[in-house]
Amino acid sequence: MNKDISFLFMLLVLAVSRVALAEPEDFYVRQREQMVYEQIKMRGVSDEKVLGAMRYVARHLFVPPARRSAAYEDHPLAIGYGQTISQPYIVAYMSEAALLGPGDKVLEIGTGSGYQAAILAQIVEEVYTIEIVRPLAEEAKKRLKDMGYTNIFFRHGDGYKGWPQEAPFDAIVVTAAPDTVPQVLVDQLKTGGRMVIPVGSFYQELYRVTKTKEGIKKETLLPVRFVPMVHGEKAK
Ligand code: SAH
Repeated sequence: MNKDISFLFMLLVLAVSRVALAEPEDFYVRQREQMVYEQIKMRGVSDEKVLGAMRYVARHLFVPPARRSAAYEDHPLAIGYGQTISQPYIVAYMSEAALLGPGDKVLEIGTGSGYQAAILAQIVEEVYTIEIVRPLAEEAKKRLKDMGYTNIFFRHGDGYKGWPQEAPFDAIVVTAAPDTVPQVLVDQLKTGGRMVIPVGSFYQELYRVTKTKEGIKKETLLPVRFVPMVHGEKAK
């Protein structure tokens, strides 16, 4: 009798601890599903590769632990050093606007938390990402390596220079805003390549710049609000 009770008690303890352990992950998976449906799909992003990546990547692991409960909310979040992780919708929108294919080689300017790089790495072959704030660059590199990404390459440096050794790129995604489209980055696009970039100081527009045989095509996509793309000499 005693034995039976202790056995039942053990089963109960096991069941409770399993629930306690399993709950947080399920909780975040559900939040991601809801985020993708309500904030991204309903607003018109339809590229299944992008939606799949946004469902897969655990955004809460890219924000400071104290901000985790807000990770799936519909706004950007502070990540330290005066920088932010972009709003989920904007990450999805920019990824779709870059018209990515599975074999693409992509340059990202502004690694920040590494979240946009992870989304891109789910979709394309290789991602090269540059961050000017050293501690952010180092933290993001460690985070993404620990997550097992082997197709993301990191550089601490000034994004205005691009990554000439790895150019040309099929797409460039810029996640900080310069005042004008940097010609150096246009030069590092393949013919047929696309750059998605916020431009402006207080008032900013998101552009898609496409390099064609005939020249540069510039499309205005959306009003946005990004942190400024700083020049090398102002780097921390
Ligand atoms: N893509 C990031 C969000 C970026 S916020 C994410 O998913 O979390 C913009 C980032 O651009 C900041 O981390 C900022 O430090 C960086 N940045 C600003 N100017 C830069 C420059 N000239 N070169 C490289 N990175 C720059």
